[in-house]
Amino acid sequence: MTNGSHLRERFAASLMPTYGVPPIALTLGRGCEVYDADGRQYLDLIAGIAVSSLGHGHPALVKAVAHQAATLAHTSNLFVHEREVQLAERLIGLVGGDAKVFFTNSGTEANEAALKLVKRAAGPGRHYFVAASHGFHGRTSGALALTGKEAIREPFGPFGMDVRFVPHGDLDALADAVDEHCVAVFTEPTQGEAGVVPAPEGYLAGVRRICDDTGAAFVLDEIQSGIGRTGLWFAHQAEDVRPDVLTLAKGLGGGLPIGACVGFGRYADAFAKGDHGSTFGGNPVACAAALAVLDTIESENLLAHTAVMGDLLAEQLDTIDHPLLAGQRGSGLWRALELTAPHAAHVQEQAAVRGFLVNAVAPHAIRIAPPLVITPEQIGLFIEALPTILDAAEAAATKEQQ
Ligand SMILES: *Cc1c(COP(=O)(O)O)cnc(C)c1O
Repeated sequence: MTNGSHLRERFAASLMPTYGVPPIALTLGRGCEVYDADGRQYLDLIAGIAVSSLGHGHPALVKAVAHQAATLAHTSNLFVHEREVQLAERLIGLVGGDAKVFFTNSGTEANEAALKLVKRAAGPGRHYFVAASHGFHGRTSGALALTGKEAIREPFGPFGMDVRFVPHGDLDALADAVDEHCVAVFTEPTQGEAGVVPAPEGYLAGVRRICDDTGAAFVLDEIQSGIGRTGLWFAHQAEDVRPDVLTLAKGLGGGLPIGACVGFGRYADAFAKGDHGSTFGGNPVACAAALAVLDTIESENLLAHTAVMGDLLAEQLDTIDHPLLAGQRGSGLWRALELTAPHAAHVQEQAAVRGFLVNAVAPHAIRIAPPLVITPEQIGLFIEALPTILDAAEAAATKEQQ
């Protein structure tokens, strides 16, 4: 038995089956490459779901984490520490000022903080929320109540929240749904978990206008899109709008668990002392990692690099003519290959067989979200292999149907 299959058996016996048993056991990562328990090498085109933005083992991240772990690994929020303040200041600078930050350990917790924050800020008579169909905001109860993916939400309701869903990107539907009784609109700029589905241009500006007209809070979930993924620090900067509350996580820590809820203007000070808290939130090691991520994105000019690599990836994908490939969508290094048939699982599997890790995010969509440090040569390797991967996926699907 291989090391990988042995580990997978132990996984099946000891871990709850929420993820099934993942097909590959990883043991080592270097840059954009990872290695499995049997020594096979893969090009990592998913980066732990848009998380490992600097790739694996980046010296700046390793150094920052090791140094902080050796200096002071944890304080709790009974004490002030330098890294948390530094990181908050850095984020406030990046979002353009007039903001304050609450740190969490994950994306869903950033949205839970946002949820409590907008409830705190809402005047009397506001009692419902609006969110986007097929949207994803996390797995804890509040964030799940706002999550438009019915299959993952419905088994766990009711949540004691009045949440109304409108189609993503549909400003007319949003305007009809939001009035002066609405607490907040929760949305993503592009829906990551739905399959990297962008909204029409002008959507965020439209959400801003509707929220301004009605006094509802505009909460923008940039947990997947933020921190460089689209070639900008934040996706909303493409439309030059500012939400009232911004949530971040995934790429922020470069692999260490950290999330953030950023409140602007009156939402910066809507929480009073005692309103919210987290033992680990703002942990020094996680903050040191995030600071290293932000520093490195700047020092290695990774925003511009991401934009250029994203365009290159899109251009090269567009040159591939294959019956299973309908096209591609997304921005920066955050793309989906659109398939003409629901064979995404086969594509993921056949890509792995040939040494590429991609993600079957939906039956008709393959998500590509590599480390932001990916090179043109690495993109070229994938493009070169893709027709063969698609052929093999079609063959596997045909075989399965027989
Ligand atoms: C991943 C994600 C979340 C949840 O983050 P976790 O860290 O898994 O809790 C929330 N919103 C969006 C848009 C995400 O992509």
